[in-house]
Amino acid sequence: MVLDGAGDTSLLLEEEVPPVLEKNAEGGSPFLLTSDHYGRTIPRALGDLGLPESELVRHIAWDVGIAGVANALSKHLDAHLIAQPYSRLVIDCNRPPGAPSSIPRISEATIIPGNEGLTRDAAEARRQQVFDPYHRRIREVIDNRLRNGIPTLLVSLHSFTPVYAGIARPWHVGTLYQRDTRLPPLLLRGLRAAGDLVVGDNEPYAVSDETDYTIPVHGEARGLMNTGIEIRQDLIADDASQQQWADRLANIFGEIEMELRGRRILPG
Ligand SMILES: [Zn+2]
Repeated sequence: MVLDGAGDTSLLLEEEVPPVLEKNAEGGSPFLLTSDHYGRTIPRALGDLGLPESELVRHIAWDVGIAGVANALSKHLDAHLIAQPYSRLVIDCNRPPGAPSSIPRISEATIIPGNEGLTRDAAEARRQQVFDPYHRRIREVIDNRLRNGIPTLLVSLHSFTPVYAGIARPWHVGTLYQRDTRLPPLLLRGLRAAGDLVVGDNEPYAVSDETDYTIPVHGEARGLMNTGIEIRQDLIADDASQQQWADRLANIFGEIEMELRGRRILPG
């Protein structure tokens, strides 16, 4: 193991997957897509975190199904997507660093042996090498867009497990927000319009400064219109359904964009 500076334990080897994945960086859409729980890669140095494969493929490790939706949505909207390929069990990129759920010792009912008794340096290495580069890149992209006068609406993409702690969840999809009162109602209306979906309004979760990072830090603190969206994982379990959801969302976001241009909230 190489030591790089004071207390910085090297975690990612040179040949490993970079901690930021981007698609369509030149996309012309005002929507900027993020996906904090896109992948379930684990740095080689951490092995399997002490978990069997059966745990590493389920929702505690990543947002099942969202990668396919995010990729297709980025393409259909011509929107820039910034995604995290590393597992949320390594460090959760939608939790404030230092929060107990940032590097979870237990997730749902599963103990994560590889996260037990972490030294401060080991936790700091995960932050510096996985969390920080991802959020630095999002910040940099937003900086560039604002500097160049490019309208930017932040959409944070997630998926949720159909059953949590034994309780079945009725929603097909939900909008998640805290302080933005502009974009979430438009998304809610769009999702409800067809009449075939049970749409959660801040369900199955609401956004808060304590339990979230991407929306409060990159959306709200920057004054961007923003929303989170959560899709139930059994609805996006295969490629065909991921494509269908991406089509559906692309249509809804397309209509929202037209409306905002009509109302001069976005340049016409
Ligand atoms: Zn998520």
